[in-house]
Amino acid sequence: MHSPVVIAAGWIGAYLFITLLPLLILLIYPPLTGGGVWTDFSVALGFIALAMMALQFALTARINRVEASYGIDIILQFHRYISLVAFAFILIHPLILFIVQPETLQLLNVFTAPWRARMAVTATLALIALVVTTIWRQQLKIPYEPWRTSHGVLAVLTVGLGLGHAIGVGNYLGLFWKAVCWTAIALVALWLLVYVRLVKPWFMLKKPYLVEEVRPERGNVWTLALRPRGHEGFRFQPGQFAWITLDISPFRMREHPFSMSSSGEHPEKIEFSIKALGDFTNTIKDVKPGTKAFLDGPYGVFTTDRYEDSAGFVLIAGGIGITPIISMLVTAAERKDDRPYLVIYASKTWDDVTFREELEDLKKKLDLNIIHVLREPPEDWSGEKGYVDKELLERYIPKRRATRQYFICASPKMMDQVELALHDLGVPPTNIHMEHFNLV
Ligand SMILES: Cc1cc2nc3c(=O)[nH]c(=O)nc-3n(C[C@H](O)[C@H](O)[C@H](O)COP(=O)(O)OP(=O)(O)OC[C@H]3O[C@@H](n4cnc5c(N)ncnc54)[C@H](O)[C@@H]3O)c2cc1C
Repeated sequence: MHSPVVIAAGWIGAYLFITLLPLLILLIYPPLTGGGVWTDFSVALGFIALAMMALQFALTARINRVEASYGIDIILQFHRYISLVAFAFILIHPLILFIVQPETLQLLNVFTAPWRARMAVTATLALIALVVTTIWRQQLKIPYEPWRTSHGVLAVLTVGLGLGHAIGVGNYLGLFWKAVCWTAIALVALWLLVYVRLVKPWFMLKKPYLVEEVRPERGNVWTLALRPRGHEGFRFQPGQFAWITLDISPFRMREHPFSMSSSGEHPEKIEFSIKALGDFTNTIKDVKPGTKAFLDGPYGVFTTDRYEDSAGFVLIAGGIGITPIISMLVTAAERKDDRPYLVIYASKTWDDVTFREELEDLKKKLDLNIIHVLREPPEDWSGEKGYVDKELLERYIPKRRATRQYFICASPKMMDQVELALHDLGVPPTNIHMEHFNLV
């Protein structure tokens, strides 16, 4: 068994090796007709960017083993940053050529340019569209589902046409090993696409779930209880999440991520608590018992189970961010965990506090202290009010900060503020764990 750190480092090594492989082959087998240092540099940038773009498919394919090393947050963050690096390389690649060989500017004329140049121009335009619609999706008011479909199509276009361009140029791909290397990268990217769109949904289809119950909770939240049909369900670590598809075939890709809110000890009944906030989440209350559901999971590293040696936990939730935390608590109660748990839970009003009664009940089974923080408290409220800031945290978190693991799940703004405050209070960054509910 290798340690998680070694495995995580191994994935980074594999990533770097694949990205730099085309360059390595280029060095071993230089181009047939030398174009000068700048031309070669520009080509190298193009090759590295193409390999990076092809590997983006691997980063978003939800490969459990990769995901388990870093968590989806970090992988998607890397996916975003690396796409900007690849984007910059792809733009610099022709710019250098235009400067050192001005005659190549003619290749921009799509009427007269050869196919290899047309493919390069179209791939670049597809990439520009991909980057713009992703960074400014909210401002452009593009709903999530059409964005996700167009994101996939644009990515395939960029890599496919980029590869077509590289093959068309030929000069740099003529040799056997170069062709082998690119064919392998293209095939892996294609396989990942087939895996995500066909193989995984096919496996999900074989393991359906049925909605057993839809329960209203405080705060406009609905708990969806699912029971596996004809299989045993899946075990999960409390705090993890799964992608749910309801009532339609898993091939349709209309899936949404939700944290499990039930105990990790009960794969035979898996619950999700969903706040009605948008198109899909508003329909949960109308889901009928007996409706078919498909789950892809579990995913995520936001779990107390990764810290068996911790002396206790500080769990900080804002609103619906309570779902992974309630799962951690009910699981701990079932396991008769005797470590101290501190929950700091921000809500708007007292009536809005999702799982208010359940949390009170858990105090009887766990060493649990709950601090409710209300933004709009009732008149007779003597508890904490306002926001979870440094002063509030200082009043409650243990003096020996490093003895605890800290889990935060809330709105992006609250998570940023709490993270900063915890840093200021001397909590080691490695003890702070966060789950973001908004992926894009
Ligand atoms: C790891 C994780 C765990 C989550 N756990 C919970 C939970 O326990 N309870 C809960 O109520 N919510 C949870 N969410 C948030 C939930 O996934 C979104 O609120 C929901 O998908 C919004 O869908 P909608 O169509 O109702 O909203 P819309 O108004 O259509 O979208 C609102 C925003 O939600 C995101 N979103 C929309 N559709 C998707 C999708 N198919 N996949 C990914 N993101 C999408 C986008 O950022 C979008 O801008 C979680 C999210 C993540 C990433």
